[in-house]
Amino acid sequence: MNYSKQRELIYNEIKKSVSHPSASEIYSHLKSENPSLSLGTVYRNLKLLSEDKRITKLSSPNKPDRFDGRTVEHYHYYCTQCSGVFDADDISPDEIKKIIPKQKHQIISYELSIYCICENCLTNETSC
Ligand SMILES: [Zn+2]
Ligand SMILES: [Zn+2]
Repeated sequence: MNYSKQRELIYNEIKKSVSHPSASEIYSHLKSENPSLSLGTVYRNLKLLSEDKRITKLSSPNKPDRFDGRTVEHYHYYCTQCSGVFDADDISPDEIKKIIPKQKHQIISYELSIYCICENCLTNETSC
């Protein structure tokens, strides 16, 4: 399989996923149908795709990086129990921008990560 074909394969896998997969999750999904694929190739292509801004890398402390094929600006909820990552579509980036005051510093970028116990984990907890 040539390089650009591998890259599109990886890109499409991220694009169709809503779970914000990690490199090893992408690798294990693709591996069975693409036995020649290596984990190193997956990492290399994820780096290239992130640099091209076709996907977004989501970093959280002490956890593997996750990847998002949805490039429109949005924030994320991170479940501290199951490590799930969920789109925070109920938080509008425009509203967040409004609350950042105009000031003497020039803002280049900012991040908003919301840590939570997700709906699924809460449901499982109460049923125990
Ligand atoms: Zn959870
Ligand atoms: Zn997302």
